[in-house]
Amino acid sequence: MRTSSSLRSSRTAAPWAAAYLGASALLGCGASTTNTPAACEPRASAAPTAPTTVERRPDDPPWMEAVEALMARAAHDTQTYEHVASLTDAAGPRLAGSPGDALAVAWGTRTMPTLGLTNVRAEPVTVRAWVRGEERVDVIAPVPHRLAAAALGGSVGTPPGGLEAELVRVTSLEALRALSPELAAGRIVFVDQRMARAQDGHGYGETVPIRGQSASIAAGLGAVAVIIRSVGTDQTRFPHTGAMRYAEGLPQIPAAAVSNPDADVLARWIEAGQTVRVRLELGAHDGGEAQSANVIGEVPGSDHPEEIVLLGAHLDSWDLGRGAVDDGAGCAIVLEAARWMATAEPRPRRTVRVVLFANEENGLAGARAYAAAHREEPHVLGLEADFGDGRAWALRTPDLADRPDPGAISPRWDPIARLLAPMGVVWQPDEPHGGADLGPMHAAPPDGVAMPVADVVQDGTRYFDLHHTANDVLTEVDRDSLDHAMRALLAVAYAASLDVE
Ligand SMILES: [Zn+2]
Repeated sequence: MRTSSSLRSSRTAAPWAAAYLGASALLGCGASTTNTPAACEPRASAAPTAPTTVERRPDDPPWMEAVEALMARAAHDTQTYEHVASLTDAAGPRLAGSPGDALAVAWGTRTMPTLGLTNVRAEPVTVRAWVRGEERVDVIAPVPHRLAAAALGGSVGTPPGGLEAELVRVTSLEALRALSPELAAGRIVFVDQRMARAQDGHGYGETVPIRGQSASIAAGLGAVAVIIRSVGTDQTRFPHTGAMRYAEGLPQIPAAAVSNPDADVLARWIEAGQTVRVRLELGAHDGGEAQSANVIGEVPGSDHPEEIVLLGAHLDSWDLGRGAVDDGAGCAIVLEAARWMATAEPRPRRTVRVVLFANEENGLAGARAYAAAHREEPHVLGLEADFGDGRAWALRTPDLADRPDPGAISPRWDPIARLLAPMGVVWQPDEPHGGADLGPMHAAPPDGVAMPVADVVQDGTRYFDLHHTANDVLTEVDRDSLDHAMRALLAVAYAASLDVE
């Protein structure tokens, strides 16, 4: 929120937040690829002293009652789950540039008007398509075994007829960097590091560099291919795909992930001193340039239509599953929140703009195209939903400069934190980081326009069981936790749309 409010509540943190003050910074946790373990200590999910009703004060802002009333209405007759069902039924897997992606764009443009959104349009985005093709990965020795495996997004395929080589195992990216070229040359490097389960998803940040970087590091040592243990927390035979990239000037070798149980089998053989030979046949290839779109719709502001509260999620998904959790859930959360605001009294005073971004998974082309087209428009706040169907459990606010001290919430944001407290959502003093799709707008100039962002943090304990797998399907979506996350985001978005002097 950019303009100042008339609020004059006491400049102290709510008592239920006190237990969290002074905790280590969470900046960069969640889906970030840059955080360190030390910055990502797990936390309790809710304050033990969380209130059961919204704490009110005499000098509360006039919009607080309206937000509380809309939150109460949105506790019933929600359609969040139905939006996920509708999208996944209509479009299914929707990797950028694929036929499913085009179906998803069509779904978005025809669905938004039915939810009360206006100014609905599909803004074209050029994407680089990647095609998986047929794939098959087999253990040849010590005993025949078909691996549950999937090429990583962006990988090249194997030569015609496939390739076969002995495995050499390392248990971290650091160990891979230290591997001797004599051991790597002509072999398939198996990078075997397990991802840790955590509510804030910090295990992802710790392990996902393996997915992105292993192929080029191994290629530099003379390896012919890379297999990684899936970056995922489940114990099922669903491999987790996801983006990888090749460094300039090094050979491009095929890269695939194997499921956690398959990685366990490979590790047992190698630890027992057995020679493991694997045969890969990957049909992955570049599909050339293709057209996609950011799908945009709005609830126009009554007083300041030029000022924008941006609600983002991504419309594309990986190809293995049906993109229900990642990010059908996020699309549904922002659409349902907008549907409630379209019926709200009073109307949002600023414009609430929903953007379903193209190509988050394999290049962020949609996020960049949006920033290029809209960076001159005043964006007062950005919120992104891209962490599945988990309940909301924390709020991070962009008010660092306005806080009485770094560990106490500002008067501007304190009413919003109090509205969320009975939902079990705790305010965290950490800096919000938005999400990947808000990055190009949130970035400091000259790259971005420093759009303020807030995080409605969802519980990611289970998210990485499903993430980027064939098991990312509607059946796995939890209706109640999805609605909980929607109501929390709705509260923040509606407050931001009303909090005008
Ligand atoms: Zn996502």
